[in-house]
Amino acid sequence: MNETKMTRLVLDILRDSVFIAVCAVLLITLCCVAQGQTVPVEVKRAIAASLKASNTDGMHEEGGIWGLTTRGNYVVIPAKPGKKADPCMRGIVSLAIGDAADPGLEANLQTILGEWHVHPRGTKKCDRDAQGFWRQPPSKVDLDGAEDDVNIVIGAGDGFVYYYNKNGVTNKIPYKEFIL
Ligand SMILES: [Zn+2]
Repeated sequence: MNETKMTRLVLDILRDSVFIAVCAVLLITLCCVAQGQTVPVEVKRAIAASLKASNTDGMHEEGGIWGLTTRGNYVVIPAKPGKKADPCMRGIVSLAIGDAADPGLEANLQTILGEWHVHPRGTKKCDRDAQGFWRQPPSKVDLDGAEDDVNIVIGAGDGFVYYYNKNGVTNKIPYKEFIL
């Protein structure tokens, strides 16, 4: 191999590396953007309503699912509110996300695309030294149950929207940016 060939080889490798790096950056950007965009505006409105409802006492969850109807339209199906709970009593608060507040909305549901629920913002003084509060990021139970394409927890207390799948949180953005 002479000098010229060697130089060309090095240049080729360099060019390929740059190409791969650019592709990786593009792919990551596309993934993040797509993830933000896969939440339709109808769903964002329902999420805002859930947050408002959970914030009335800060001690219960709200949530729901969305999907496509047989005609290909978005359908948003809020769940019945979760039971009010006490963060000082071993802090379990939950919601049956598939238990529709209005079962009529499920009639034409064909494909479930995503689900959301709010982790409440309430806190309570349990005793002199302990303050009870609700965990804001998705719990182990949330991660284990992440079956949909898009799974979202809204931390009403910390103001973040968490996207997650079975492996963990994949993205975390301020609620104020999410709801724009
Ligand atoms: Zn949860």
